[in-house]
Amino acid sequence: MNCIKIAVFAVLISTSAFAKWSPWLPSVEMQNSPTQSGRWLRSLIHMHSVFSHDACDGKPQTTNEDGTIQINQKCLDQFKAALCGHHIDVIFLTEHRTHMAHTDFNNVLRHYQLDSYLIDGPQMIGGEISCPDFHQVKLFPGAENALMPLGLKTHPKLLPGLNMESTYGNLSPAASQNFKDAGALVGIPHLENERYSIERILKIDPDYLEIYNIHANIEQIYIKFNPIKIGAFLARLTGFLLNPLVKTDLAYLSFLKETKASMRKWAQLVAHKRFPGIMGSDIHRNVLKLRMKDGDRFDSHRRMIRWFSNYIYVTGEVTRESIMKSISEGRNMGVFEIFGSPNGFEFKATKPNGEVIEMGAETNFVKGTVLTVRLPDNRPKYAVPYIKKATSRGWVKVAKGKRKKDILTYVVKEPGVFKVDIRLRPLHMTRYMITKIGHLLRRYPWIYSNPIYLR
Ligand SMILES: [Zn+2]
Repeated sequence: MNCIKIAVFAVLISTSAFAKWSPWLPSVEMQNSPTQSGRWLRSLIHMHSVFSHDACDGKPQTTNEDGTIQINQKCLDQFKAALCGHHIDVIFLTEHRTHMAHTDFNNVLRHYQLDSYLIDGPQMIGGEISCPDFHQVKLFPGAENALMPLGLKTHPKLLPGLNMESTYGNLSPAASQNFKDAGALVGIPHLENERYSIERILKIDPDYLEIYNIHANIEQIYIKFNPIKIGAFLARLTGFLLNPLVKTDLAYLSFLKETKASMRKWAQLVAHKRFPGIMGSDIHRNVLKLRMKDGDRFDSHRRMIRWFSNYIYVTGEVTRESIMKSISEGRNMGVFEIFGSPNGFEFKATKPNGEVIEMGAETNFVKGTVLTVRLPDNRPKYAVPYIKKATSRGWVKVAKGKRKKDILTYVVKEPGVFKVDIRLRPLHMTRYMITKIGHLLRRYPWIYSNPIYLR
């Protein structure tokens, strides 16, 4: 019996499929559905690097004796290599205030040593990295403190009685307007945080909400400081760090979870107005320096960037303006790309007169309107779509698709705000986690669409 077990085991570990894991997957370019003519951009929103005091192991930069800034070159190079390796199209940097507030706005991007810059009058408002394989990555400056302005065109004007650091850190309707005046889209980071009450958010009037942030998955374990939970979490993680029969990149599966508090708040907020949702990477490269069995440190940019992305849909020319317009109008979706890319996904509403309403849009409700979800091509076998409606208790399922069917439709019976969740069990990935199969085969979110608003 033991001999049989050993033989089976030997076959399993010698399968070429296990060896074929690419640390750069998913690297495919996003494909449109047959009716889409625009372009999906793989994007990272909420990223920290050499201008955030706590990024790069807390050493993002040093000041030379002559007052000039020395950037942590190694950290920056790894960051840029990861953006190129994963074919990220757009990244919205969100630096903390400590360094950002004391740096000339043009230097914030100049120190990233980009290959070209986007200029607006006297200001540098964006730039591009030209990758070795000719892929281009667009970068836009922004900040994250109590609020998260994306795509700042300049430093904000000082709020009355405050210096620049405090202006960046302020949480008020005035601060929100101030960032908007500086050209940014203003977001609420870490939506799950209790300090962002529904009333407060409505007063701040943000342009978007961060409906998922990876920190929420980990902080919950530590905040309550339950030693048993912490011990169990670390034990689960250790398996990924040392075990040669499971890919270290899949360690994310041991803690990836929907943030229920954020989802509930989002459902409550969309009753008032359109609130596009985004997923925040919040990568700092400051968690665990330890080199793993695959040669990368645990929290490397390469490893974490591949876990999830925002896909922004842009029609016409891809410019700073068209990208930001798409975010502000909800033409983007969150995708946990560790499970695969969302090629061909589409969510739309069709009125009885044939008028088509895109994801993110708002229109008057007409009886007989049909919501249509087109599932991604080449999707994992065990992916199932759900259409959900916003209620005061959260998002409630109104329709469930079948995994073998490419299309899910739902005739809307009453006004409401509707979004799509696609969930899956990662049975298509078992070859990469031979000895960890059991508890990792639970259900995970894969795709979060933005809502369609039928009022
Ligand atoms: Zn952050």
